[in-house]
Amino acid sequence: MSPADLISHHFRLKPEQKQALTKLKLNTLADLLFYFPTRYLSQADFKLISDLKPDMEVTLWVKVIKAQAKKSWHQKMPMTEAILADDSGKIKALWFHQAFLAKKLLANLTIKVSGRVSKRGSDLALINPEVSFEASPIWTDQTIFGNNQENEVQPIYPTTAGLSSGWFYYHIQKILAQKVQLKINDPLPQTLITRYHLPSLTTALIWLHRPKNNKQLTSAKKRIAFEEIFYLQLNRQLTRGEYKKQGAKKLKVDNKKIKEFIDRLPFKLTLAQGQAIKELQADLKQSQPMMRLLEGDVGSGKTAVAAVASFIAVSAGTEVAYMVPTEILARQHFESFIENFTHLGIQVGLLTGKECRKFPSKINPREHTHISRAQLLTWVKNGDIPIVIGTHALIQKSVVFKNLSLAIIDEQHRFGITQRQNLLKDKDDNQTAPHLLSMTATPIPRTLALTIFGDLDLSVLDELPPGRKKVITEIIPPTKRHQVYDKIRTEILAGRQAYVICPRIDEPDPEKSRALLVKSAKSEASRLQEKIFPEFTIGLVHSQLKTKDKDEEMNRFINGEINILVATSVVEVGVNVPNATIIIIEGAERFGLAQLHQLRGRVLRSSHQSHCFLFSDSNNQTSFTRLKALAKTTSGFKLAELDLKLRGTGPLSGQKQWGISDLGMEAIKNLKLVIAAKKEAEDLIKVDPKLKAYPELQLKITNLNTHLE
Ligand code: ADP
Ligand code: MG
Repeated sequence: MSPADLISHHFRLKPEQKQALTKLKLNTLADLLFYFPTRYLSQADFKLISDLKPDMEVTLWVKVIKAQAKKSWHQKMPMTEAILADDSGKIKALWFHQAFLAKKLLANLTIKVSGRVSKRGSDLALINPEVSFEASPIWTDQTIFGNNQENEVQPIYPTTAGLSSGWFYYHIQKILAQKVQLKINDPLPQTLITRYHLPSLTTALIWLHRPKNNKQLTSAKKRIAFEEIFYLQLNRQLTRGEYKKQGAKKLKVDNKKIKEFIDRLPFKLTLAQGQAIKELQADLKQSQPMMRLLEGDVGSGKTAVAAVASFIAVSAGTEVAYMVPTEILARQHFESFIENFTHLGIQVGLLTGKECRKFPSKINPREHTHISRAQLLTWVKNGDIPIVIGTHALIQKSVVFKNLSLAIIDEQHRFGITQRQNLLKDKDDNQTAPHLLSMTATPIPRTLALTIFGDLDLSVLDELPPGRKKVITEIIPPTKRHQVYDKIRTEILAGRQAYVICPRIDEPDPEKSRALLVKSAKSEASRLQEKIFPEFTIGLVHSQLKTKDKDEEMNRFINGEINILVATSVVEVGVNVPNATIIIIEGAERFGLAQLHQLRGRVLRSSHQSHCFLFSDSNNQTSFTRLKALAKTTSGFKLAELDLKLRGTGPLSGQKQWGISDLGMEAIKNLKLVIAAKKEAEDLIKVDPKLKAYPELQLKITNLNTHLE
């Protein structure tokens, strides 16, 4: 056995198992060894039915008393209902969309079920618990730990159809028993293993898959988390090194001129804006390209900072490309830049898939007009339009600047790595790279920012401009729903607008039975129109709409033709509809705090008092604590940190593009570990910029790159 051997060479696989492995991208024995358990159960986790309380996560060994296929009363959905029992009592279990299970759950069969305990009326029930039929090699219904006394904890693997947790356990143990692991090379430099008291890779793998106790487990997790973050940091540092090496145009501009520009802005900069400008000004003077991330809450004034950076670039006789994720945002920034640059006689261009515009127009110096794409591109190439704002249309090959020195990317997480790189690619053949100013309003915890943006220097706008009214945030119990509707009616009659955000588009999510209770945008839009607000115009946007239709609907909202916009969380980040003063969030407990905060930001810019109403049907205590925190706290960053504490990394780990596993995400909670991994990566790159002495590290990091694409 060698780690590179195919799984199918050593184990007999059923067709559906083969399929499932392929889907999980598990081909080799090594792949299996790196398929980590998502959780571990200790003896204390095995409960009896009489011990159960709502919201507990449990695994039970139970006997089937009876099972039958049914249709749910509510939506005529096929389902299975079963009564399960152990020595201590009985419990009902429901599986929605899984009527076929009824045939398999034969009376008297012993099965293993895992899931969360729910409350249904006055009884407890298991909703869509995971069922396992096969006799597990480690567990029997009699003595769960009986044949494996030495191990305090048992790994549980994520499962898919055809591959149970037991399957993974059994096969991984077989591989470990064959000592294949001895041939697995450890890419982590020995010095680091010693310095941080980490187990070797082989040991860590054994401890993850077969921990004798929690101490081994903790140590193994620390090792894997450290290496993941270390590799990611190395990757980012290498990217940074490569980019910096290209050199950049030095943009030196008289401080007095910059001050004049700032003084003409219609407001006084906040201290944070001033500080960020100072930091980027220092970067722009260098002969190496700036690589800076400007992180600032919604409404913290990032556009003004971008405008000052643009002014510096333009004053130095060079050009600026400003890329934003949507056409609506492009148009908004275009118009705000016109105001900032008109008095200087600087031309501003707009380039999206839909339209090209230029200010000022030839005919009327106070207006911008439509021009042809070809015309715009010619002017840009000649350097006549030094500032071009656009969508990803900006990165097409045909767009060539005369002397591009600054690339600004707004809401940078909305772009893929390739798109970012394409904007930064130098197309004017003079061997330098543009300075990069990347901006984001996504509040993420500091440890995570350090990790995933390890190649960027960070500026933070941690204050909002003064005089901003706070959004009044309230948690609304179901009984007060109609009072909120009355409030909306009053506001709309006074000329304002409202958002209603729903967690789903339409069809229920079969994975989560609670989804049945959660409002969908489509049905909520028709309900509001028919039953609650027949007198108003209701709009609907969600991610299934074509971009064109979505933009059209958004435009109707911006123009005030729509009174109430029902939407999923797709409501464009950063879109500014100052007339919207109310946002209702249905099923609020289903959103992360950071996301709720972003949604609330939609009504932050109004000069009228605005409100955010959180509707929640959950009586779960953690959910309530989270929502209360949202009502009290206005800083997105504080909320992101809090979310990390309250919900763990769960809500963040959906972001697979970051290339961090769930285990690595665990480590994100540990600032010390992240800082150590970052420092070690920086130090290593300093002495060995190409990792010549570490071929295995090199390989790891190259793989990481393909992963990130
Ligand atoms: P974001 O950081 O979300 O991109 P914007 O740049 O769109 O925020 O700014 C939000 C609003 O705040 C805009 O209307 C802008 O004109 C205004 N603004 C920005 N900076 C200041 C400031 N220092 N004082 C007052 N208003 C400001
Ligand atoms: Mg913005």
